Amino acid sequence: VSSSKTTTTRDYSTAILECAKKKSPNRLMADDAEGGVAVDNSTVTLSEATMEELGIFRGDLVTLRGRWRREAVCYAQKDESCPDGRLRLSRGVRSNLHVRLGDLVAVKPCPTIRNAKRVQLRPFDDSVEGISGDLFEPYLKPYFMDALRPVKKGDRFLVRGHMHAVEFKVIDTEPNNEPVIVAGDTEIFCDEGDPVKREDEERLDGPGYDDVGGVRKQLAQIRELVELPLRHPKLFQTLGVRPPKGILLYGPPGTGKTLLARAIAAESGAHFVVVNGPEIMSGMPGESEANLRAVFAEADAAAPSIVFMDEIDSIAPSREKAHGEVERRVVSQLLTLMDGLRPRAQVIVIGATNCPNSLDPALRRFGRFDRELDIGVPDELGRLEILRIHTKNMPLSDDVDLERVGKDTHGFVGSDLASLCSEAAMQCIREKLDIIDIENDTIDVEILNSLTVTMDHLKFAMEV
Ligand code: ADP
Repeated sequence: VSSSKTTTTRDYSTAILECAKKKSPNRLMADDAEGGVAVDNSTVTLSEATMEELGIFRGDLVTLRGRWRREAVCYAQKDESCPDGRLRLSRGVRSNLHVRLGDLVAVKPCPTIRNAKRVQLRPFDDSVEGISGDLFEPYLKPYFMDALRPVKKGDRFLVRGHMHAVEFKVIDTEPNNEPVIVAGDTEIFCDEGDPVKREDEERLDGPGYDDVGGVRKQLAQIRELVELPLRHPKLFQTLGVRPPKGILLYGPPGTGKTLLARAIAAESGAHFVVVNGPEIMSGMPGESEANLRAVFAEADAAAPSIVFMDEIDSIAPSREKAHGEVERRVVSQLLTLMDGLRPRAQVIVIGATNCPNSLDPALRRFGRFDRELDIGVPDELGRLEILRIHTKNMPLSDDVDLERVGKDTHGFVGSDLASLCSEAAMQCIREKLDIIDIENDTIDVEILNSLTVTMDHLKFAMEV
């Protein structure tokens, strides 16, 4: 008689990757507004059946929650052309929620929100380039008049004027840190301070999980170690365990350790502080320790936070290597700071190194950097994923076979593949140089449209 096994064991190691995809009725797929009832920065539309299912009535305020814990408040309207289970939203709202078409947005009725006493707005520098003067009368006044628009600190919105559209950012509101309505008696301030620099803003956005390739397993592990405790500390408190304080990422340079840490911070909505090893070690005596203390204080104040220590081996080399007095003091300061993190501090330290063995063993003990993740050189499939990421926004000709490139780039790490892609693009541009007039300020649209990266460009780039 053969006994058959009745229980199957499931591999839970990447369960967290599936977790976010779970669908509950209030998670709707973001859809474009084309052809449907008009949406703007303050309205979204959905089908009657979906509204009914969620207990939302026409004209109700709803809270939308997108990626990276971004929230927005809008009025809901009925739209018969919108398929059930979907939500039509404007580009502006999608960008505030950090969602793309096809992403899921959680929708729920919004509790009543207060009228703002005042709101402070600022235009983006590139949208007011070449225009001067008052922005209130031509743009803001008509935009807000009688519209009772809900806004939140950090929101961006585009206002179309007669000739020109200006994008604004909500710098502050009173009351603060909650969505508010801009009503008839709300004071609108827009003339303090300089325009918002687009560049700074984009840097803040940071990369997402889909910008990191070839590290599926590691991504699952690190999300479990970082995102779960930062977002749901209760899970760990209930089980009576302390989530990890420190994680060590090791692997050769250019494999995406920094990228991964940034993506985790951005996607979990955590504050991100970078400590560059060699940088912090230079300076006056005592300065390195003071800098470290300042970093941890900042992280604690802005928690949930991730402190990323790049090239941590240069801060904390193993003692036999640490000749200097400075290194010894810095290591012991780091140990004190990590040991001193309150269990509920919601601060996680991620260290990155090329050679974990040259790190002070005291740092790798329980309660410090006690988790280690190997971010190795990507395999063929990993390389293909990374190539897809870096050619995402590139017009590729039909002959491009990324799988072939993935096969032929054995030993390449992420940063090599990234530069391969930009080198291929450069080569494509070089070929057009004879028809590009470099003295001219603008480039002919036809030339731009003719730019496509071919397999030859990629092959060329592989050889340089
Ligand atoms: P490390 O910190 O391991 O030295 P980085 O994260 O600084 O590596 O990588 C440098 C650049 O190379 C990244 O900004 C990215 O453009 C590219 N890159 C590296 N690894 C990957 C990866 N796994 N997926 C996508 N891009 C990558």
